[in-house]
Amino acid sequence: MAQARLTIDLAALRANWRSLADMAQAEAGAVVKADAYGLGLSQVAPALAAEGARRFFVAIAEEGAELRRILGPGPEICVFSGHMAGDAGLIRDAQLTPMINSIDQMLRHVESLPGHGFGIQLDSGMNRLGMEPAEWSALRDIALSQHPALIMSHLACADEPDHPMNARQLQAFRQMTDGIEAPRSLSATGGVLLGPDFHFEVTRPGIGVYGGLPFVDARPVAFVDLPVIQVRDVEPGETVGYGNTWTAERPTRVATVAAGYADGILRTMSHKAHLWAGETRCEVLGRISMDLIGVDVTAVAETPESLELLGRHQSVDTLADWAGSIGYEILTSLGARYARTYTGA
Ligand SMILES: *Cc1c(COP(=O)(O)O)cnc(C)c1O
Repeated sequence: MAQARLTIDLAALRANWRSLADMAQAEAGAVVKADAYGLGLSQVAPALAAEGARRFFVAIAEEGAELRRILGPGPEICVFSGHMAGDAGLIRDAQLTPMINSIDQMLRHVESLPGHGFGIQLDSGMNRLGMEPAEWSALRDIALSQHPALIMSHLACADEPDHPMNARQLQAFRQMTDGIEAPRSLSATGGVLLGPDFHFEVTRPGIGVYGGLPFVDARPVAFVDLPVIQVRDVEPGETVGYGNTWTAERPTRVATVAAGYADGILRTMSHKAHLWAGETRCEVLGRISMDLIGVDVTAVAETPESLELLGRHQSVDTLADWAGSIGYEILTSLGARYARTYTGA
């Protein structure tokens, strides 16, 4: 079988969520947007619900509706994009809680779904989503009289603990919300790690649950193994892959493995990436193709059936470094072609 394998350890996922939840004296939510960071909403969300998550966050109403089908009634499902035109049916039928981002969204919400719950998203400086202070002061009294389920904002630099933006946003959020009864939420994974000042009543961890930085103590959740299709010996002067970008300087044994940039093994990782055969580190040779990668297995005594890309030796952040990216992008790029196995359920 030439299908690459993606194994997702749900026990590690649950343990990561539990660790992040236990770091704060607050209710821990769970962010499961983008198909649970590419790892599979229908497996990840029930695992986190079983671990105790009661409040889930998604990016758009369609994701929320899918999540409701998976989880059934009960857990709160908050939608970061708020209440967009055309969303009323989904929000009502799936009992979603839109995070209202503007006065326009507020009007749309109360006109189309009077009495239906909502939250408020405030902009504390990131300038991405949410109401700015002036808009919020205009709406505040009316919004609060409807008892919002949550008042939230998002930190732009929480993965850099010493960044002055963190304190600035904390102060801005406090100025907009101090004295309000509704539960407040400011922190994703990075904010949880910044400490109690940032925790408020609800936290929103995402990447740390999936095994990524800035949660350095996270257990790895995603494991990727690539089957070897063919092995050949090349002589000095021979090249490997598109564009002849790698030339052998000594006799080299080359394994061709079955995965490529269509599987989220980004082409920009070429010439930096390596895989593992047991405890032996094997360099990627030449350019990563769409479905194939050449790997130096000269040092491996017996040709392995597969090589490890993600797992015990290297994390999503290792791969991200090769690609000049972040663990989030590695996970959400993995794609649909893998044979997926879920363990630890
Ligand atoms: C994605 C997201 C989160 C989760 O962030 P992580 O860094 O993955 O923990 C929390 N809140 C908002 C608004 C987000 O967009």
